[in-house]
Amino acid sequence: MHNRHRTLPLFAVGAAAAVLAGVVGCSPQPPAGSAPAAPPPAAPLAPFESSAHPVTAQQLGASWQPGCPVSPADLRLVELRYVGMDGTAHRGQLVVNADRVPQVVAAFAQLYGMHYPIAKMTPVEHYRDASDEASMEDNNTSAFNCRPIPGKHKWSQHAFGRAVDINPLLNPQTDAQGDVQPITATRYLDRDQNIPGLIHDGDPVVRMFTTRGWTWGGHWTDPHDYQHFEMP
Ligand SMILES: [Zn+2]
Repeated sequence: MHNRHRTLPLFAVGAAAAVLAGVVGCSPQPPAGSAPAAPPPAAPLAPFESSAHPVTAQQLGASWQPGCPVSPADLRLVELRYVGMDGTAHRGQLVVNADRVPQVVAAFAQLYGMHYPIAKMTPVEHYRDASDEASMEDNNTSAFNCRPIPGKHKWSQHAFGRAVDINPLLNPQTDAQGDVQPITATRYLDRDQNIPGLIHDGDPVVRMFTTRGWTWGGHWTDPHDYQHFEMP
């Protein structure tokens, strides 16, 4: 569809056009305003990148406290690129167990290659009291959080840094009692909706994780936890 690119406005002529040439082609520029403006084509994504760093108790804030099943020394802050809901590359951070760094990086590298849309990716300590509810309501993708399974006296795999919640507002947890987490996600209980980032059984994102040995909470019967992937 090179014709679409001929609608570039005149400001693109010159140095900017030279920069864009590799993306939009080198067609002669017609007079401005000769056709309705078309959105520019998506620029190629930067290559996937990731790095893993030690974390301190201070950095972990309220997401960690003494008595948690892993120590800060067992955890890593993974910085990686992800594709946002706008289709462009963003930098995100996940706190995961050191023994899951290769698996997490491999999975998110593949999501990046799939251009899988992720709303945001910030460690939960950035939310007041490391509130899981606040993080979920913000549709924030995250991993480590030292917390029990809701309503149970048992650690969640998040407390070990071995679980990831993806686009949690779009992909809530629901149980047989009608509980919905986050509480603002009731409009996403209809799982047949076709919304970018909303996970359906059989989606490439589910197949990608499960073929790599992860379990998807959407395959559980009670609760259904559509945001949740874990590798205990
Ligand atoms: Zn989870």
